[in-house]
Formats: sequence, C-alpha cells, structure tokens
Amino acid sequence: MPEPILIIGAGIGGLTAALALLQRGLPVEVYEDAPELGDVGAGISVQANMRNVIAGLGLIDALADEAVTANAAAQRHYQTGEILDWIDHTGGNWQHGDGAHLFFLHRADLHGALAAAIQAIDAGCIRLNKHLVTVTQDGDSATAHFADGSTARGQLLVGADGLRSVTRATLFGEESPRYSGVVAWRGLVPADRLPPGLFTPDSCRWIGPDWRILCYPVRHRTLINYVASVANQTWQVESWKEHSTVEELLGLFAGCDPVIAKVISQTPPELCYKWALFDRDLVPKWGVGRVILLGDAAHPTLPFLGQGAGMAMEDGIVLARCLAHDSDLATALDRYVRLRKPRTDRVQTASRALAQWPFMQAARPGSQTEPARERAMATAYNAATAPLDE
Ligand code: FAD
Repeated sequence: MPEPILIIGAGIGGLTAALALLQRGLPVEVYEDAPELGDVGAGISVQANMRNVIAGLGLIDALADEAVTANAAAQRHYQTGEILDWIDHTGGNWQHGDGAHLFFLHRADLHGALAAAIQAIDAGCIRLNKHLVTVTQDGDSATAHFADGSTARGQLLVGADGLRSVTRATLFGEESPRYSGVVAWRGLVPADRLPPGLFTPDSCRWIGPDWRILCYPVRHRTLINYVASVANQTWQVESWKEHSTVEELLGLFAGCDPVIAKVISQTPPELCYKWALFDRDLVPKWGVGRVILLGDAAHPTLPFLGQGAGMAMEDGIVLARCLAHDSDLATALDRYVRLRKPRTDRVQTASRALAQWPFMQAARPGSQTEPARERAMATAYNAATAPLDE
C-alpha cells in the first residue's frame, strides 16, 4: 500500500484536490484545523471555468438544484441606479454549460457536495481538529506535525491551508500578508424580506466613490447575497474577520441608490461580518521536494475577479491529473506548477489591480457627476471581470 497524499486544509481547494485524487484511485488523507466541516455563509459566483471543474468532478447533478443560472450581469449608477453596462448571460445552462455563462452557489452547498462525494469514497478521509504546526521531510516522505502532538506521514504533503498557510511559512519563511486597503462585508438576506423584483438583472454591481457592492441570488433565489467592498486605508484590527453591525455598513452607503440601502438594511444582524482583504506577492516557487502548495496558500487572490475559489479548484484537479499521469513525483509536481502558475499569476495580479481601481479614480472630485466617465468605468470594469472560460 503506497503512503497517502496528505492534504492540509479542507477548504474548497483542498477538498477538490482530495476528491480528484480519490477518483483516480490515489490514497488521500485530509487534515483540517476546524472542529467541524463547513464554509462561511456566503454566496460564490461560479464562472465557466469553475463550472467546468465541478463538471469534471461529477458534481453537476449534485448541485443542480442549488445552482442559480444568471440571466445577465449589470453595472448600475451608484446613486441613480441607472444601468450603465450589461453583460448578457441568457442561454446559460448548468447541465450543459457551454459558453461563458455565470452561475451562483451558496459556498456551504459547494463545500458540502465536495465533502459528501469524498466521504462516499472514503468515509475516514477527512480528519478534523488537526492544526498543522510544521512540516518536515526527507528523501522518502513528508511528515505533518499537529498541535495535538500527533503526526502524519505521506509520500507528498499538499498545503491547501489558505492565506495564512503554515505550510507556506514552513517552506519559505514567515511573511505577513499584504493589506489591500479594502474591507469587505458579506451578507445573505432572505429574499422574502425584499420587494419582488427589487433589482434586475440577476447580478448587479454598483461602484461608488470609495466602495462597490455586488448583489445576486443564491439557493433557489431564496437568499440575496451581497459583497460590499469599502476602501479603508487605516484598518487596525488584527483579526481578518470580525462582527460588524448593519448600521455601520448602512452609514458607509449614505446617499447611494436606495435599492442598496434596502438590501443592506434587511441583513440579519447576527450574520453581519466584515473582512479586511489581504493577499500576498507572487512567489517564485510553490514547493520544495515532497511539499507543494495549492489555492490561496500558493496564490492568495483578492475577490475582485470572483476567481479565488475557481483558481483553487482548477489547481486541485490539475494536481490530481498530473499525479495520476506521472509516476515520478518530481516530474508530476513540475508539470503541475508549469501548467498552473502562469495562469494564477495573471489572475492574482489582475485581482490586485482592481483593488486600487476604480476606487481611486472615482474618488477624484467631480468624477462621479460625469456620466460618460461613469459609463466608461463601468465598461472597463465589466471587461476586466468578464468570466474566464478557459
Ligand atoms: P481556504 O478556503 O482559506 O481554506 C483553507 C482551509 O485550511 C480552511 O478550511 C482552514 O480552516 C484550513 N487551515 C488553515 N490553517 C490550517 C492549519 N494550520 N492546519 C490545518 N488546517 C488549516 N472566489 C471565487 O471563486 N468566487 C467568488 O465569488 C469569491 N468571492 C469572495 C468574496 C470574498 C469577500 C472573499 C474574501 C473571497 C472570495 N473568493 C471568491 C475567494 C475564495 O474565497 C478563496 O480564494 C478560496 O476560498 C480559497 O480556497 P482555499 O481552499 O485555497 O483556502
């Protein structure tokens, strides 16, 4: 029996890799810090590339009832609500999925479908309450050392442990993540608390002087998900995710299109969280010997292209294909990095650029009163965030 492939982190990236490896008959053990499996209560936009990974994992049917197919994505004026730009997605089909269409899922549904598929193949694959503290390796194996004193040994260790990856720090040294200057609020509002047809089309984005907000439906359209990003250069709080209040968020959106205030005001107070958004600079390498990185651990990606989870899922399936294809580990890992890194470098860099722009341009005095400029900004933003269908 060959030694298992150890995966650290049961996020969307780690679970994708685990499932793709198990489906290819490779032995896997997943170690997760959290005491229970789950993901944050928030929506996720699924572009064509991410849907293709979900299809490759055989999870299209499992998520067919949950996925919302967007009819279009619009950019609206931040005060008047006028539609400035529009991307048509009609004809999108979750089951067949050809073309650059757009879908929405609840993160917990995606995470749950991945976990269920893994457990159907190997019920004991995912081990909880396992906080990685360091990694060691020799020529034959890699060993994970956990906070409870236990260890696990495998032929390969995959660090899928996110932005604050211990695996990455063990390989390349401690280095603080870089604050983007943006704080994000994520909210889920029961759709029956809002007037029917409050906004159309399905996906609407408003860009204000120093904020932007994106709204779309999830879970059979019973919930409206929003991600509100606000420029904040003076974030001092250590925690990257903390409770906020609906009043605080509403205060930041004073004078905006009343539709936005309506959505925000209906957020259940206990579900109002804010995140300071961090990323890291590109790294020259993703691995050393028998240890390799994947997802945010390798390329923490700001959410402005809606591609962080998509990139983590692509990494997972490509890594599994490389390991199944090449029996020589070094060759397989080299191939994985060569296939993935140019693409994730591009997405990581483009997502970072969007953190600065259009906030900064829009913040110039007078710029918001100029409709042509607003429209040009909307078109450029939509072009930059158009779905990737590779
Ligand atoms: P994570 O999801 O961070 O998972 C890492 C896992 O490792 C966690 O379960 C964690 O508990 C575990 N872990 C951490 N440390 C240890 C340790 N020491 N030992 C053991 N386990 C450990 N992406 C999209 O594609 N579409 C979107 O619409 C989108 N919207 C977003 C909105 C916001 C506001 C934000 C902040 C992000 C968004 N993203 C989106 C990005 C996406 O959430 C991330 O890129 C993605 O979750 C990364 O997945 P991952 O598995 O690499 O890491």
